[in-house]
Amino acid sequence: MPITAALPQENLWIEGRRSPSASGKTFFVVNPADGKAIAQVAEGAAQDVEAAVQAAARAAQGPWGSMNPRQRARVLFEIARCVREAREELALLETRNTGKPLADSRDEADVAANCFEYYAGAVSKFFGETIPAGSNGLDVTLREPVGVCALIVPWNFPMMIAAWKLAPALACGNTVVLKPASYTPLSALKLAEICAQAGLPEGALNVITGPGAVVGEALSSHPLVRKISFTGETKTGARISKLAADTIKRVSLELGGKSPNIVFDDANLDLCVEKSVFSVFSNAGQDCCARSRAIVQDKIYDRFVEAFVARTRKLVIGDPMDPKTQIGPMISAKQRDHVAGYVELGREEGADLAVGGDVPRSGALAKGSFIMPAVLTQCRSSMRVVQEEIFGPVLCVLRFKTEDEAIALANDTPYGLSGSLWTRDLGRALRVSRAVQTGVLSVNTSTSVYLEAPFGGYKTSGVGRELGMKAMELYSEIKNVFFSQEC
Ligand code: NAD
Repeated sequence: MPITAALPQENLWIEGRRSPSASGKTFFVVNPADGKAIAQVAEGAAQDVEAAVQAAARAAQGPWGSMNPRQRARVLFEIARCVREAREELALLETRNTGKPLADSRDEADVAANCFEYYAGAVSKFFGETIPAGSNGLDVTLREPVGVCALIVPWNFPMMIAAWKLAPALACGNTVVLKPASYTPLSALKLAEICAQAGLPEGALNVITGPGAVVGEALSSHPLVRKISFTGETKTGARISKLAADTIKRVSLELGGKSPNIVFDDANLDLCVEKSVFSVFSNAGQDCCARSRAIVQDKIYDRFVEAFVARTRKLVIGDPMDPKTQIGPMISAKQRDHVAGYVELGREEGADLAVGGDVPRSGALAKGSFIMPAVLTQCRSSMRVVQEEIFGPVLCVLRFKTEDEAIALANDTPYGLSGSLWTRDLGRALRVSRAVQTGVLSVNTSTSVYLEAPFGGYKTSGVGRELGMKAMELYSEIKNVFFSQEC
């Protein structure tokens, strides 16, 4: 791998300080747009996890745990302000590390700032109840922190998903150990510095970089970790659940998806195509919510495919630093080859490749892990390309005749994260939204993730709901206290 001359060295973040890993080992982080190393990062292991968890446990008893809610909220508001101030630096860092277009990274820095602000406000609006129980006293519930939380995040939206977890966890008074994915550790380390600058006490947030099978597993089985919040692949989530079971940790999981995009023949086709192209190809298709199965009614199937393919051909794929770029490279050559393998598999299974799927082998794009967005038509639900999460820019198009058939196809995968449906018939929109088994659904648009609203999956797509006030439930315990009036 080509290494640039002055490669930045990044350390772990434990108890408010940068520290090298106990083993002294490091790993390289690469810019997927050109394959060059951009940083050398400390590779944590069990001993580092131990130090981080102990630091978090001390902060839970000490400086962070002892702050009152108003003081906590002030720190979170200040973190939001500092993230805004560092927006451009964060966006550049994230683009160089993930390959996503700069405009997308800027949006994600904004979401991160908004998220800290939202949960700063939530601190004072999340409280217990009084319950009419018993006859001689008062029954109340209290919301208390869970304790040390391990937050394990993936590489597709590293900064945004870290913020989705950090902000509510801290708002509820917990302390955390954040474990970023090995491909993308840089924004998490920067966020830790920003949080410290904003006044978050030492130990309240620790960041341990390193392999999931070592760092993630050590966190998932550590007895002092009381809660795991994980986003990533379904099979990793299953492994974490097993490890966490021995010490009865609270576990919330945001996992994979194979989301349906149901298009009825009365839909606004122009609007639908324009939004649908980005709903599957944005972030180079590396999106758990990617609408990767278009389920299209017979009568408009050909028109949909023709318009979709034409729009796909117009997408600007290229250097993520170029403001005109809409789609950047995939996270790694390995992931790109994995996706190219799926495109080939689709053809072997009998699908038609209507556009894309090729890997640039010459010119500027050949240096990065690019693949051209692909559309597979004439797909059947039994195909592996339709059942499995490809996690790349590949759309599978299926055909249906009746509403019941559309619902059956939509529900015919093990996943249930998100989905969209397009129709101008209100009755049908209501019936189909009730019948589709997903945690989030959008009607006549492709956006279903809002900071203020619950987000999470049915079936093998996850357990629990992030975002909105629901996330506060994930990061707190309920204590019920009955006060007798006789004393
Ligand atoms: P991944 O499961 O490989 O890794 C996610 C995180 O878990 C990383 O930090 C990784 O180092 C760590 N990890 C890996 N093995 C581990 C183990 N044995 N124990 C503990 N931790 C371990 O996922 P990924 O490839 O980084 O991300 C892509 C996946 O994430 C896709 O399946 C995608 O659908 C999913 N995802 C889901 C959501 C959602 O909200 N539902 C959002 C984004 C991504």
